[in-house]
Amino acid sequence: MDDIILLKLGELVLKGLNRKYFEQRLIANINHRLEGLGKFKVYSLQSTIYVEPQSGGCDMDEAFEALKQVFGIITLSRAAACEKSADAILRTARKYLADELSSARSFKVETKRSDKSFPMTSIQLSQFIGGELQDAFPHLAADMHNPEVTVYIEVRDFAAYVHAGGVRGAGGLPVGTSGRAVSLLSGGIDSPVSTYMMAKRGLKIIPVHFFSFPYTSELAKQKVLDLASILTHYCGKMTVEIVPFTHIQEEIRSKCPEEYFTIIMRRFMMRISQRIADMNGCKALITGENLGQVASQTVEAMAVTEACCTLPVFRPLIGMDKEEIVRISRQIGTFDTSILPYEDCCTVFTPRRPRTKPRLEDVESVEAALDINALIEDALNGIIRIRV
Ligand code: ATP
Ligand code: MG
Repeated sequence: MDDIILLKLGELVLKGLNRKYFEQRLIANINHRLEGLGKFKVYSLQSTIYVEPQSGGCDMDEAFEALKQVFGIITLSRAAACEKSADAILRTARKYLADELSSARSFKVETKRSDKSFPMTSIQLSQFIGGELQDAFPHLAADMHNPEVTVYIEVRDFAAYVHAGGVRGAGGLPVGTSGRAVSLLSGGIDSPVSTYMMAKRGLKIIPVHFFSFPYTSELAKQKVLDLASILTHYCGKMTVEIVPFTHIQEEIRSKCPEEYFTIIMRRFMMRISQRIADMNGCKALITGENLGQVASQTVEAMAVTEACCTLPVFRPLIGMDKEEIVRISRQIGTFDTSILPYEDCCTVFTPRRPRTKPRLEDVESVEAALDINALIEDALNGIIRIRV
């Protein structure tokens, strides 16, 4: 009896002609995610993806958990494959679902038959299997409306599959099917969540982190790399671009009025991120900004921040409450790392009374004291890339 995993595709089945491309991308992402867990054969047929172990060494439990984090999958079931005959299906159901059927009080059988040449109709097969299972597990009551266990039988082209229902997958679109974007990743709670949310919509992510050594420590950098590693469960492998930011911050501090520190610093982040985006074929920038959360996240401040770049800036958290953001952060596993107490570069140079309603002309005239292009080139030349 072969234990396999069946994956139902989410929204991508709606995508008409693009569907093959979406499926291929999803299968590639699944194969990456299963690396190190054994040798699997992954293929799609009739809007289901089949994940079959190819050797005894496959860790099916780990594989199942890993696939729950792959975007583009709406439900996952572990199933047993068998020959397409009523007797083989019955034997498989009795054995494979023995635990579930022994401990439940009620059950029903549901058959889907995409192979219309199978000699019984779906209803006939359900009735046959249901009757036989009831003889084998006499304590079970048949309950068509609210059964504790549903035995699902799928009769498909090459085999039949028996399982007891699925669990929810990660949803969304396969990473890579919407193109690429740069995500500004700090060590905070918000930006890992915004990165996750846009990867869920199919973007392949290049994380960028601005690092202000020695004002922020090696530990602060390691924290960001740890966050990025957690995010790879959803986003796939990534290369984090660590941008040296100390010199820029010191220049701003020595040449600009304090009330503009944060906004000018954020504009440098956007300019540099856009350059990194251009170098990597990225078509958008992503931040964890949230309306009204801090002085640099007013409508006016965000308008001034994004005025220096031309790419669209995606802010998926813009309308969320902090508790909703925290809930997602816990759910995706970044929260405990995000709250470790290492300084971010933004907090090091925080003005006492920041401008909450900056005007673009004022900011531009204050920035004129800086050699913006040279500072950007220097920072770009100092980038360190780390694969996670
Ligand atoms: P977070 O929790 O993501 O740090 P925040 O609420 O602390 O967000 P800010 O510090 O103002 O807000 O930063 C706003 C956004 O700017 C962040 O969500 C992130 O996208 C980006 N950002 C801030 N600091 C950095 C950094 N050092 N490197 C990269 N991006 C950063
Ligand atoms: Mg922050």
